Amino acid sequence: MPLSSDDRIRSAVRGLADSMVDFRRELHENPERGFQEERTAGRVAEELGRLFDPVEDRIAKTGVSVVLRPESGAQRAILFRADMDALPIQELTDAPYASKNPGVMHACGHDGHTSILLHAARAAADERAKIGGAVRFVFQPAEEGPGGALPMIREGVLRDPQVEAAFGLHLWTPLPVGKVAVTTGPMMAAADEFHIVVRGRGGHGALPHQTIDALTIAAHVVVALQTLVSRNVDPMKTAVVSVGMLHAGDNFNIIAETADLRGTLRTFDPQVRDMLIARLREVSEGICASFGAQCDFHFQDHYPALVNDPEMADFVADVAAEVVGPENVVRDLVLMGGEDMSYFLREVPGAFFFLGAGNEERGLVHPHHSPHFDFDEAAMPIGAEIFVRIMERYWSRFPAPPSR
Ligand SMILES: [Zn+2]
Ligand SMILES: [Zn+2]
Repeated sequence: MPLSSDDRIRSAVRGLADSMVDFRRELHENPERGFQEERTAGRVAEELGRLFDPVEDRIAKTGVSVVLRPESGAQRAILFRADMDALPIQELTDAPYASKNPGVMHACGHDGHTSILLHAARAAADERAKIGGAVRFVFQPAEEGPGGALPMIREGVLRDPQVEAAFGLHLWTPLPVGKVAVTTGPMMAAADEFHIVVRGRGGHGALPHQTIDALTIAAHVVVALQTLVSRNVDPMKTAVVSVGMLHAGDNFNIIAETADLRGTLRTFDPQVRDMLIARLREVSEGICASFGAQCDFHFQDHYPALVNDPEMADFVADVAAEVVGPENVVRDLVLMGGEDMSYFLREVPGAFFFLGAGNEERGLVHPHHSPHFDFDEAAMPIGAEIFVRIMERYWSRFPAPPSR
């Protein structure tokens, strides 16, 4: 009896499970930071080169991409994306595959993302005769900053073939292995940065009347900024203002001349974001002025909010339900973290999903970016299978390109 396509995909992906683990561990031992993923990109290109020609490399410096073109010659195309970069963290696990690169660690699971997508591409290559359109596989640099998605889009990964939908995943240890989360609409926040310099007049700690105390003023600024979310944001909306850094003063008996504050703003709604940017500036400048100090206010845009298209999110949820069972698909996970997959989803409809990767029994419960981070590798074939099934199902679920 011939295998159904579901069985065929599942057994193809399961057959790659050991290779998926090996490749992930190889990347884990050799982590590289954003835009320095030379070895990683080289290995990804080498592995892809066994099945794809051409392999496009050095996109946005260290990005790699291949296109799987259907035998039918159909012109439609979708995109799958993985990120390859590691973090500036000294690994503290005792895993046999722990980082050999001091001070650098795959503490977010991007080693897993890369291996999952590479093996999904391998399994997908066997389906070339049966797919209804092209699939572009994108391995991007520097998700942890300063961001590799936008430069890869600028260098043309959404054109030739013209991509109509994009999909990506993130391993997620707070979610147990075997579960998948995909949310309709906003799923991850816009993550921006602000920097405030209070410029006062330093002097002797015993002669405060001759000074403008930047440290005291900065303390007022920090407290006042805590009222923005509670007093200015609609209680039905969501935002975070966190001051994460305050540097002022050099000695116990000297009044500080300047104070340096840095913080992050997290929002989903562009109007809430614009309002809070304006209020951050008004409140800091107003407080500084009331104490006679100068205020330099700088705002740095980071990644926009990640917004899943409702139909694409439903589609991914349905595909995930076939792989892990409907009871294991979570539809309401929302995070204040940022993700540069958001740039792809700003250009074309699509969906980003979280792949459960935690396992309490095995102690795999540490948060992402922890020096103790590790994930349950049993998640990887699940992720690869979801990608391959998306590729197979997409064309009949969306017989015409989605309009926006
Ligand atoms: Zn991360
Ligand atoms: Zn990440």
